[in-house]
Amino acid sequence: MSPPKHHPVPIHILQEVFGYSAFRGQQAAIVEHVTDGGDALVLMPTGGGKSLCYQVPAIARQRAGHGVTVVVSPLIALMHDQVGALEEAGVHAAFLNSTQSLEEAQAIEREMLAGRLSLLYAAPERLNTPRFLAQLTSLHERGLLSLFAIDEAHCVSQWGHDFRSEYLSLSLLHERFPDVPRIALTATADDITRADIIDRLQLHEARVFIDSFDRPNIRYLIVEKDKPREQLLRFIQDDHDGEAGVVYCQSRKKVEETAEWLRAEGISALAYHAGMDSDVRMRHQDRFLREDGIVMVATVAFGMGIDKPDVRFVAHLDLPKNIEGYYQETGRAGRDGEAAEAWMAYGLADVVNQRRMIDESPSTEEFKQVQRGKLDALLALAEATDCRRQRLLAYFGEDSEPCGNCDNCLNPPATWDATEAARMALSCIYRFRQNGGQRFGAGHLIDVLRGKDTEKVRQYGHQHLSTWAIGAHLSEQQWRAVLRQLIALGHVVTEGEFSTLSLNESARGVLKGEVELLLRQPTAPARKGKTSRSG
Ligand code: ADP
Ligand code: ZN
Repeated sequence: MSPPKHHPVPIHILQEVFGYSAFRGQQAAIVEHVTDGGDALVLMPTGGGKSLCYQVPAIARQRAGHGVTVVVSPLIALMHDQVGALEEAGVHAAFLNSTQSLEEAQAIEREMLAGRLSLLYAAPERLNTPRFLAQLTSLHERGLLSLFAIDEAHCVSQWGHDFRSEYLSLSLLHERFPDVPRIALTATADDITRADIIDRLQLHEARVFIDSFDRPNIRYLIVEKDKPREQLLRFIQDDHDGEAGVVYCQSRKKVEETAEWLRAEGISALAYHAGMDSDVRMRHQDRFLREDGIVMVATVAFGMGIDKPDVRFVAHLDLPKNIEGYYQETGRAGRDGEAAEAWMAYGLADVVNQRRMIDESPSTEEFKQVQRGKLDALLALAEATDCRRQRLLAYFGEDSEPCGNCDNCLNPPATWDATEAARMALSCIYRFRQNGGQRFGAGHLIDVLRGKDTEKVRQYGHQHLSTWAIGAHLSEQQWRAVLRQLIALGHVVTEGEFSTLSLNESARGVLKGEVELLLRQPTAPARKGKTSRSG
């Protein structure tokens, strides 16, 4: 047995090494627990300060003679930045990854094996190699393996948005070195992902620390798609002229087209997606980080591990996959704590597309079911007529009051009772089926409901249906909202290449008038006036 070791006081390390005066939120409790050798699972939003939760214990434990902390991270850029910052602050740290030469790697391995490093960052795949495991064993035998920190721990869960198979073998660490404490950290964790992390990393004994996911300085705005590009341009010009922001699009093609279009409109926009040449991509990323007022138009490939404090807005031109994705992506705005906006344009085609992507993905039915549930939660957020933040936080298990800083709080939307309209739409879909067994998409359905005389209507004799023109009193926009809701709520399902509509079992309740449907009144496409920075 080694003699009890005395740990330096964490707050002194925070002040001396990092130059900060105090811990934030749960940091103090986490740092104390981990420094004392306890296991921890830390759920903290992006920008919450997760790094210090393992860096301070790593330094304290190194100073007390426990040796090296091994940090597992999938983000090479982040490793690079953190190691640079630590070395600058006089903490001996290094990383091992595939970008290094053999000589470089060997030099770092020697430092590690001597127990001199405080922190060693490594990509998850390295932990599976016999060579690295042998080195860890050697350290462990000499009492110099201090702590494992597993960053981006949601990567271990299939239910998360960023599953990485190499993470699965991290349970090995616990099996091989059961007495070495572990801290797992993530910014993403709904109930199901959280439970999965605990299971797969065998963290049943770990203390769970949950920081509030609220980002009060971010204002959430979700608008109905009309002419999305113009809506985006107006949003940028009116409220974020000359400011840095990120615009997320689903496809690479759309990223490029949107960036080009914005540039033609006089916005300093750059494109970023995984299909671009890596030097162009790096150059764009660099300019975004270094220059002022760059708007990065990107796929979700952009952003993980990018710490730019003054991003003033994040815009979505397409619907993310789920609330975790939305939260993660919007969370890149306002990391400096100053006012920022998360803006999204959302429409019927988004709902249909996302459903189709799930349906057509090559996964198990169980997996698809979970993904559908997650999409539904996001759709409910998009359609909400009450506080967006309250819904967002409720999704992460937090109770809160209406926030006063989202579109719905600031301008409570007018609602209309769409119960009757929903019944009309459902019975029309039902009539299509009865009348020849055909299925049709949303466009045709709306034409029939509104009594529009089209070629297709005449081709199928739909002007003779009992549901013909029964909904002429509602606008096309209103009908789209009704359908979005019906699809979002799962009463109507879309199928196949043409996204034809059919009824789900649950539609029965709506048809019988048992389910009330309250929709937001469509607004004029123009956005409300300039948002104020101060309030
Ligand atoms: P996360 O990994 O949770 O996204 P980081 O660890 O990158 O967050 O921290 C976000 C920012 O907050 C960093 O710039 C970091 O230096 C700063 N920070 C974290 N904790 C503190 C603190 N206690 N006092 C001051 N700044 C802090
Ligand atoms: Zn609100």
